[in-house]
Amino acid sequence: MKVLKALPGKHWLSEYDGSDSYDWQEAEQYFSWATTGKINMAHEAIDRHAEGERADKKALIYFDGTTEQSFTYADMKRLTNKAANVLTDAGIQAGDRIFIFMPRSPELYFALLGALKVGAIVGPLFEAFMEQAVRDRLLDSEAKMLITTKALLPRVPVEELSSLEQIFLVDEEVEEDGKISDFRIAFEQASESFEPVWLDREDGLILHYTSGSTGKPKGVLHVQNAMIQHMMTGRWVLDLQEEDVYWCTADPGWVTGTSYGIFAPFLNGATNVVVGGRFNPDFWYSVIEKYKVTVWYSAPTAFRMLMGAGAEVANTHDLSSLRHVLSVGEPLNPEVIRWGKEAFDQRIHDTWWMTETGAMMICNYKSMDIKPGSMGKPIPGTKAAIVDDQGNELPPFRMGNLALKTPWPSMMRQIWNNPQKYESYFFKGWYVSGDSAYMDDEGYFWFQGRVDDVIMTAGERVGPFEVESRLVEHPAVAEAGVIGKPDPVRGEIIKAFISLRDGYEPTEELKQEIQTFVKEGLAAHAAPREIDFRDKLPKTRSGKIMRRVLKAWELNLEAGDLSTMED
Ligand code: ATP
Ligand code: MG
Repeated sequence: MKVLKALPGKHWLSEYDGSDSYDWQEAEQYFSWATTGKINMAHEAIDRHAEGERADKKALIYFDGTTEQSFTYADMKRLTNKAANVLTDAGIQAGDRIFIFMPRSPELYFALLGALKVGAIVGPLFEAFMEQAVRDRLLDSEAKMLITTKALLPRVPVEELSSLEQIFLVDEEVEEDGKISDFRIAFEQASESFEPVWLDREDGLILHYTSGSTGKPKGVLHVQNAMIQHMMTGRWVLDLQEEDVYWCTADPGWVTGTSYGIFAPFLNGATNVVVGGRFNPDFWYSVIEKYKVTVWYSAPTAFRMLMGAGAEVANTHDLSSLRHVLSVGEPLNPEVIRWGKEAFDQRIHDTWWMTETGAMMICNYKSMDIKPGSMGKPIPGTKAAIVDDQGNELPPFRMGNLALKTPWPSMMRQIWNNPQKYESYFFKGWYVSGDSAYMDDEGYFWFQGRVDDVIMTAGERVGPFEVESRLVEHPAVAEAGVIGKPDPVRGEIIKAFISLRDGYEPTEELKQEIQTFVKEGLAAHAAPREIDFRDKLPKTRSGKIMRRVLKAWELNLEAGDLSTMED
């Protein structure tokens, strides 16, 4: 099989000007299926590198503070082949749903890629999910197999899952009992060779349930074809080069952890660092230092926590290897960008996309001037616009629905079991994101909030994001979540929930000081009339502030599905 080089020439970086003129067919030449007609994500991500000049290159480095393991592309090919053989012997066929519910470890990656090799549709579940969340997802998807650990097994309501035929435990020797089998023994014995199951570009790849920020999580199905966009955004936006050591901090239970924690780096033949264990500022910095991480993709919640730990912690580590830092998941406050420059001398590049879009859509590129607070510009080959509720494009600086022209390579192909929901995203040739934004006169997009979170106060539309961003500029404020609270006179008033940095006390004076701070920095009408101090803000397990929960608290309403909320 012909092996094509997958890493970019540097010209990618400066060539792009944010226009939508790119023809996605150009990208096909970088995949081996362009010449062989044989398609399988795991082949493109692993095997073709292993069969070519990257065989001995480090593919995966795993570190959790104590255990360290590393695997070359050749190792990854062998180990994912073994996993694929185990799954084939267990009767898995193309299109079956295999769910993976375990903490980050090398085995998770072998199992996931092995499942892709047999043509299964993978459903990754975040390790912190409790029984209800596990039940909902396994029932909805009619999963046939679950790969998990002994510690997590009690959260799997085995008796209620009639479609589930087999549960593999990866970590401990188990009594084989009913549906439960031992993965390790089968894995040890499995052959190291395997011919991937060849698929169609429109065949299923992965089923991700959304983060649950705005309601019950939706099962988003992506297909093999998405790899085109994973690979190209890995070049254009992550700017992956042959020598890079890349670290994406997201768990594969969320779309960022697969699209950019697995697919984009491996498709591009990069060295991918995977970190296990819990977040801890000192530990995270030590990972960058130890492995000389060059490209780092993380999220505002993590950056804000690092910021909260203070520049001193950053300064005790050598972070000079970093050459490109990116963010996704929530709006990136300008204050955080300023801090990134101070703490590790990098401008953090924001990227905007959703589980449903499958890959990055609106981004800041290395070659582009960053406007702090802006998500950047649409990637090549796509068009974004701000549209009104009738689907008409709005001129610059008008707030409206952030929409994308359909289709693009990694666009979702189904909401599992819910065709009506799927249809509801599309309107007059647009995919309507549910986010509210505006575009400036240079084509940069500025996030304002979820459409449902935009506040109408005394006739003014206020996006919660700009108020929150101003709030976190105040030295006492660690995090802020802003909602509109119904008000008989003003329609809504702005209410802020704030958690304070260490060393600050929640006093009346501080409230007033913060109100004045927003008034002076933003506008009188944008200042929160009410402020509540909280020890913690409600967040999803992927780290997003849940404004609907703040709103429910405030209005004494049912908060809805809380399966993805942190403890
Ligand atoms: P659910 O759809 O279940 O309510 P969710 O929308 O949080 O949850 P995801 O698909 O993980 O689930 O997140 C996508 C959303 O995250 C976007 O619609 C947007 O609101 C937010 N988001 C992602 N990246 C950015 C960014 N760079 N700036 C602002 N918001 C972002
Ligand atoms: Mg969403």
